[in-house]
Amino acid sequence: MPRLMWLRRDLRLADNPAWVEAAAEGDCVAAFVIDPVLWDASGPIRRAYLTASLRALDASIGGRLLVRHGDPAAVIPALATEVGAASVHIAADFGPYGSARDLAVEQALGAVPLVRTGSPYAVAPGRVRKDDGTPYRVFTPFSKAWLRHGWRAPADPVDPAAVITAGARSDGIPTVDDTGGITVPPAGEDAAWERWASFHAGALRDYADLRNRPDLDGTSAMSHHLKYGEVHPRSLLAELDDDDQTFRLELCWREFYADVLTQRPDSVTTSLDARYDEQMRWSDGPAADAAFEAWTQGRTGYPFVDAGMRQLRETGWMHNRVRMVVASFLVKDLHLPWQRGAHHFMHLLRDGDIASNTHGWQWTAGCGTDAAPFYRVFNPVLQGEKFDPDGDYVRRWIPELRHLAGKKVHAPWDVADGYAHGYPARIVDHSVERDVALADHKALSRT
Ligand code: FAD
Repeated sequence: MPRLMWLRRDLRLADNPAWVEAAAEGDCVAAFVIDPVLWDASGPIRRAYLTASLRALDASIGGRLLVRHGDPAAVIPALATEVGAASVHIAADFGPYGSARDLAVEQALGAVPLVRTGSPYAVAPGRVRKDDGTPYRVFTPFSKAWLRHGWRAPADPVDPAAVITAGARSDGIPTVDDTGGITVPPAGEDAAWERWASFHAGALRDYADLRNRPDLDGTSAMSHHLKYGEVHPRSLLAELDDDDQTFRLELCWREFYADVLTQRPDSVTTSLDARYDEQMRWSDGPAADAAFEAWTQGRTGYPFVDAGMRQLRETGWMHNRVRMVVASFLVKDLHLPWQRGAHHFMHLLRDGDIASNTHGWQWTAGCGTDAAPFYRVFNPVLQGEKFDPDGDYVRRWIPELRHLAGKKVHAPWDVADGYAHGYPARIVDHSVERDVALADHKALSRT
C-alpha cells in the first residue's frame, strides 16, 4: 500500500522529513490541495508564485504531482481511499487555520493515520520555553534559548523514483494570468538554492553591516522560498559559520513569531496588548480612508515611506527596514490600526506569512512583542537619510524625485524645485502626529 504525502508549505525534495517518512516503505503518492480558503485569501502574486513553485516541484518528480481542488477535509480522505493509502503524511502546521484544518482532516480520515513529521521551522513552535515552562514574550531571551536548544541536521533528500500516481487523476495546476502587474520571481527548490548560493557567496559576508540598506541588494531575498518551503530554514542554518550570527538571528525572528502566534492564535486580529484595541483612539471615516489610500499608493509625501509602498506594489516585496518605517507611519502618523496595514501587506506580499506579518506589524505598532513598545516612533526622514544615504532607493521607486541629487530626495520641501515633477505634498506633519500618538499612548490605562 502506498503512503500519501500531502504537501503544503514544504515544496521540496531536500531535507523534508515528512516526505522521507512517507517514502520510507517504498511507493508514495505526492499531493497538493488547492484549498479555496487559502487561495481566495492570497493576492495575485502569491497565487502566481505558488503555481510556479508547484510546476517546478511537479517537474522534479517526473510530472507525478497530484493536484486536487477543494476542501482538504473532503479531498484528502477521498484521495487516500482512491489510492489505497496506508497513512497520510504531513509536516505539522502551527498556524491557526492550518492546525484546525489538519484536525478536521485527521477526523475525516478515520482509521487512516495522519502522521505529522517536522514543521516549517528549525525548532517547532512550543518547544522553546522558560525554565518554568512558560513561553517567551520578548525576542532576545527567546533567541538565546533557541540557540541553546539547537536543531537537527538536514534530512536526506527524497528519491523522486519513489513517487507514483497510483493511477489517480490530477485536476492540474491552475494558470494565473493576472499577477497584478508584478513579475513572478524564479520559483522552486532549484531557484531557492541558486539565490542562496549567490547570497552566500556575496552579501552574507557584509550582512551584519548592510542588511538595513534598502538601496543595496544586501539581504538574502529568501523569504518567499522559506514561505513555500522550497528550502527548510534548518538547511540554511547548516550552511552558516560562526561569523554569521546576525543572519542566524534573523531566521530566529521567523521562529519567534511562529511561536508567539501558536501561543496566541487570536493575535492574527487582536493586539497582544488589548488596550490598543479597546482604548486607543484610532482614526476612521472618510479622512482616514483617504490617508490609508495615499499610504497604499505611495503618495503620503514622505519619500522613504512612498518608495517602500511603491516597491511593494510593483514587486510584491519590501525591504525589512522600510516595512518597519511604513508600518510605523500608518499607525503612529496616520493613527490607523495595524490590522488595516497587515491586511494590505498580506494581499500584496509574495512572502506574506501570517506569523511574521502579524507580529512584524504588532511589534512596530507597539502592541506586540517589542520590549520598548509605543515610544519607538520612526522618523521617516531621518530613517531615509540614515539607511538610504545617497537617496538611490527613493529615486529608484519615485520617478517624480529623480531630478534631486543625493539625500535631498528625502526632504523635497527643502529644495526649490522639489515638487517640479508632481510629487505630492506631505499629507501630515510628522512632528505633530508623533506628539499626538505619544499623547494617545500616554492616555491608555496602565492596567
Ligand atoms: P533577510 O534579511 O535575508 O532575512 C533572512 C530571513 O530571516 C528572511 O527571509 C525571513 O525568513 C527571516 N526574517 C528576517 N527578518 C525577519 C523578521 N523581522 N521577522 C520574521 N522573519 C524575519 N517576513 C515574511 O517572511 N513574511 C511576511 O509576511 C512579513 N511581514 C512583515 C511585516 C512587517 C510590518 C515587518 C516589519 C516585517 C515583516 N516580515 C515578514 C519580516 C521581514 O521584513 C522579511 O522576512 C524580510 O524583509 C524578507 O527579506 P529577506 O528574505 O531578504 O530577509
